[in-house]
Amino acid sequence: MRTQRQVVDFALQRRALLRDVYAGRVAVREVCDASAYLRTAARFHGEPTEDLCPICRREFLTRVHYIYGDELKQSAGQARTLAELTSLATTLREFQVFVVEVCRGCQWNHLVEQFLLGDAGTPEATTGTAPAAPGRRSSTSRRRQAM
Ligand SMILES: [Zn+2]
Repeated sequence: MRTQRQVVDFALQRRALLRDVYAGRVAVREVCDASAYLRTAARFHGEPTEDLCPICRREFLTRVHYIYGDELKQSAGQARTLAELTSLATTLREFQVFVVEVCRGCQWNHLVEQFLLGDAGTPEATTGTAPAAPGRRSSTSRRRQAM
């Protein structure tokens, strides 16, 4: 999505956790613990991917997008499809999205990334906080344009 900002990627943490699982330092049941809510969200709001589950390697992962933010009111904390996120991004100023991947086979799940979406995208111009320039030359630019 092109309005994504303040993206935080959790790929490193994911890789580190998987390394621990493969090495037997973390039990599979500890990481394959998708809640009933997450499984339901994956079923109804998830986006299919072509990434194989890193644990069971039998199922493709589903990505679930959770939304948070004051503007969402009672919708905060709910899962939304990508299409819904796109339309929310044009109507709201700012909200947080958490992307969780989940395997519908073995229940592996992990936070993939988080980012902000919304219409507040354009960075504030810094002119408002700039110190006043010495002299009064700026008044020339305010002179009324001749017809
Ligand atoms: Zn799996």
